[in-house]
Amino acid sequence: MSQNRFILHVDMDAFFAAVEQRDNPDLQGKPVLIGHDGPRGVVATASYEARKFGCHSAQPMSIARRNCPQAIIVRPHGLRYREASDEVFAIFDEFTPVIEPLSIDEAFLDVTGSLRLLGSAIEIAAKIKHRIREKTRLTASVGVAPNKFLAKIASDLEKPDGLTVIEPDQVDDFLARLPIGKIPGVGPVAQKRFHGLGIRVIRDVRQLDRDELDREFGSSAQRYWDLARGIDERPVVSDGEAKSISHEQTFGIDVDQADEIRRVMLDQTEQVARRLRRHGLSARTVTLKIRYGDFETITRSTTLDSPTNSTDTLWQAVKQLFRTWIEREGFRPVRLIGVTATHFNDTTQMELYTSPDDNQRKAVEVATDQIVAKFGKSAIRRAGGMTGKS
Ligand SMILES: [Mg+2]
Repeated sequence: MSQNRFILHVDMDAFFAAVEQRDNPDLQGKPVLIGHDGPRGVVATASYEARKFGCHSAQPMSIARRNCPQAIIVRPHGLRYREASDEVFAIFDEFTPVIEPLSIDEAFLDVTGSLRLLGSAIEIAAKIKHRIREKTRLTASVGVAPNKFLAKIASDLEKPDGLTVIEPDQVDDFLARLPIGKIPGVGPVAQKRFHGLGIRVIRDVRQLDRDELDREFGSSAQRYWDLARGIDERPVVSDGEAKSISHEQTFGIDVDQADEIRRVMLDQTEQVARRLRRHGLSARTVTLKIRYGDFETITRSTTLDSPTNSTDTLWQAVKQLFRTWIEREGFRPVRLIGVTATHFNDTTQMELYTSPDDNQRKAVEVATDQIVAKFGKSAIRRAGGMTGKS
């Protein structure tokens, strides 16, 4: 076992909906659904007011509307969410360099090295929440725990605006109350198998001996064995030292519209590219991950002619992978989609190999990132004249 670590999982509350409500007083205190309306639309985020009616993210818009006919539907304003996200991540930087983004509104922070300067982990968590509220007028929920697995579960327990701490001596009690389905990656099939063995909460997994666990769960056995004992040694890996950068999203339903999936993939690609650029990295390999409703998961990769961190180049590759998948294997409804960039080079080494066209495009993207860093996304939004609200 390594020394005691202090891991934070910070997760913005109903992020897209909260940004919309902040920016438009007419939406405050009301049920709001972010997403594209229409028979095939999917809810990206539901405000807490809408959740009371059974609405939630990844739900078909048609069902959400039926649950809550008075809900106001707002189409997503991605630029505004990214602007708020940049502000939040800049706040993380004030507290630790060890930041692992999980999505646009969620990250692990290892604050073990910050304790001497900045106070206890709980104090740091409270300060981060305070800074986020002060800077963005949004709320975050934070879980504090000795590892990533527990921190992520903790952040979810007292949403919204929560601060949940799992002290090392509380881990056991906590595992005794946690349903087995809370383990990431335990799908309906694995859950049923656990239930068949009489196992309902994570701590009960300890009743199985190692052979039994191996027999039942194969390659996942070690992980379940560890988690049942509160062990998760995975480090928090910041983008600067990561070997891969990825974004993925699980839908609450099998999405059967290729366009809806493309919309999500474009967003993911943009996030991945921005994270590469922020750290001066370029990727040579792009991977698309697709999971079907039956939990079968496939990955399809492509290697680029030269490493890149251009949103446009990465997006062309992702689109092509998606198109090839449909052509060769036939479209199937998708439960999870993800974009991963790997095989990094330092950007500085590849200047020689880029064409003038690439250089121009890169200059535009660098300039855009710089303007965003300095003035916020709204500067660019205003310049583009995209001020319309739904
Ligand atoms: Mg969130």
